[in-house]
Amino acid sequence: MKIDAVMIPALKDCVHCGLCLPECPTYHATGREAESPRGRIAALRGVVEERSSVSDAIHDGLESCLVCRACESACPSGISMENLMARYREQTRNVRGDFSASLESWLLSYVISHPRRLNACLNLVRILSPGLRIFPGNEDLPARHRLRPQPPVPQLLEPSGQARGTVSILRGCVADRLFREETHLAARLLARAGWRVLVPAAGCCGALHHHAGLVEAGQRHASLRWKDLSAAEVDYVVVDSAGCGSHLLGQRDSDSPPITDTVTLLAHEGGFVAKSRLPGRWAISVPCHQQHSDLDSTTGISIIESCVEERVELPAQDHCCGAAGMYLLRRRKLSRKIGKMAHERFEKSDADAIVSGNPGCLLRWEGLLGSSRAKHPVQILAQSSGLTPI
Ligand code: SF4
Ligand code: SF4
Repeated sequence: MKIDAVMIPALKDCVHCGLCLPECPTYHATGREAESPRGRIAALRGVVEERSSVSDAIHDGLESCLVCRACESACPSGISMENLMARYREQTRNVRGDFSASLESWLLSYVISHPRRLNACLNLVRILSPGLRIFPGNEDLPARHRLRPQPPVPQLLEPSGQARGTVSILRGCVADRLFREETHLAARLLARAGWRVLVPAAGCCGALHHHAGLVEAGQRHASLRWKDLSAAEVDYVVVDSAGCGSHLLGQRDSDSPPITDTVTLLAHEGGFVAKSRLPGRWAISVPCHQQHSDLDSTTGISIIESCVEERVELPAQDHCCGAAGMYLLRRRKLSRKIGKMAHERFEKSDADAIVSGNPGCLLRWEGLLGSSRAKHPVQILAQSSGLTPI
């Protein structure tokens, strides 16, 4: 099997400096060069230049990439591992006979992109998960996500006074089923801060497709979401899932509205007042796709800090928790090992609880610490400002 060199132009830019190695969670977890950014690029280049074939070992090293993008921030050559992996997976997906990759493609194409099928599938998982223990962390699917009625999401929330502007919120696909309460809270926090809030129908943004190598489908879903989210004139598109926000940002037209998240928007534009501080020492885990993309990863931190008694730093806080979207199902063993390493860092920090703004990461932390000690930023803001969940 050959990999098309035209599709992978960045390989020659690697100068083998190794600056990416300390940033790579799979390298930390395995200690193997083949599971580092530099090793992956060297292996891929060997295949492209036809010095080697895509052996099982090479494929395994490439497939174990989390696409966390931590290496991208360290790389002096500006290599995008996200794009390299998307192209590699696009070209190898249907020819390797890899069962987990085929199952992933099937789920993405026939379940996750279809809200009713996704709902039925998640209901089945909710029923079976205590026995299957398929979800992240050391525990099964946290109890708060198991079978229970999902509140309907209003399509429009008006502020009580004069509107400072209009925003639209992404509901997403899996997030809409597991984190609908957070979407509710975000919409109400924004309306309370003076924003007119539009909430278009739920739908997939295509980020999971892109990472799985279903590049064309990833672009198609992103373009549908952009159409929905900017159907009316809006000042901002609000995305409270960093993976989705980063993907939509990459597919944004120059005349599209800017992307932000609830906490960043409130910190930037005002209108939020913390009334009390949540007790305890809180660590803030900024999701990889917020840290290593052009999304704002710093402005919202001050507003979270204003809602908690004490903020503590996580050691190596830029390291991935190992959830990484479908990775937690596709590469369960390595995902859990990286999750265990994240848990050890948390324990060293002496924190009582953690805040994380990405649904996959939050599932991981809820699995590791329990739902009362792992919260989405909008839950923290809501609790601190006296907004009750629906
Ligand atoms: S994207 Fe993450 S897991 Fe993949 S090579 Fe880069 S740092 Fe390692
Ligand atoms: S930092 Fe960039 S250039 Fe240096 S070894 Fe890693 S991928 Fe190659």
